[in-house]
Amino acid sequence: MRKPFIAANWKMHKNVQESVEFVNAIKNKLPDPQKLEVGIAAQAFSLPSMIQAADDSGLKIIAQNASAEYSGPYTGEISLRGLADSGVSYVMLGHIERRRLFNEDNDTVNRKVLAALEMGVTPIICTDETMVQKEVNGEIHYVFQQLMSVLRGVSLDQIKNVVVSYEPSWAVGYGQHANPVLAEEGCRQIRRTIADNYTYEIADKIRILYGGSVNPDNVGQIMNKPNVDGVLIGRASLDVDNFLRMVNYSK
Ligand code: PEP
Repeated sequence: MRKPFIAANWKMHKNVQESVEFVNAIKNKLPDPQKLEVGIAAQAFSLPSMIQAADDSGLKIIAQNASAEYSGPYTGEISLRGLADSGVSYVMLGHIERRRLFNEDNDTVNRKVLAALEMGVTPIICTDETMVQKEVNGEIHYVFQQLMSVLRGVSLDQIKNVVVSYEPSWAVGYGQHANPVLAEEGCRQIRRTIADNYTYEIADKIRILYGGSVNPDNVGQIMNKPNVDGVLIGRASLDVDNFLRMVNYSK
């Protein structure tokens, strides 16, 4: 049984005070953590204060990026060792904005995934497809090659500890309607790719999230799809009321 997971991606929004105020406003209104996991990916400087504010609410605090290097002369980078020490449970890796704006390629993301697994911080591996690929193929272009490149060297034992997110780049940040059928199809194909390259039993246990223009009006339809185990939410997660509506979508 895969536990659903709803995560906010705040990107470069909110300072420490705003982040802590948000956590304080939601932490007693979250669904039962045994039934649904809720997380927030925030800027690195806010993470320790948010962890403290979250207390024993079950809210997971997520980093948005990390270095593949353990430590050393890497000015400005965020180490996984430091994130693990601070109590950060998850790290998003390979988000479309990291790829598009900061030239991250599959090799870089692959090194980060291996480092996160080594440090015991669960990677949320972001995969994407472009509108061009979708239009040229006349069908959904799935992300098998990208996914398997970033999973290179991840063992049967380690693969159990990853979360994958499927975020078509044309749906992330542009406000295009997040179609639940496409979300399901993308997540289903990713699960099949994992089954083909690892085992069916493992693929059946891995959580696959959908991301791209999720909001309070469409979250229920998307979450109800059988292969969608959760959602990654950007813009709509910045507002307390919206976020609470989404994490409590089934009520
Ligand atoms: C994201 O940035 O991961 C995302 C899903 O953004 P949005 O919900 O704004 O499309």
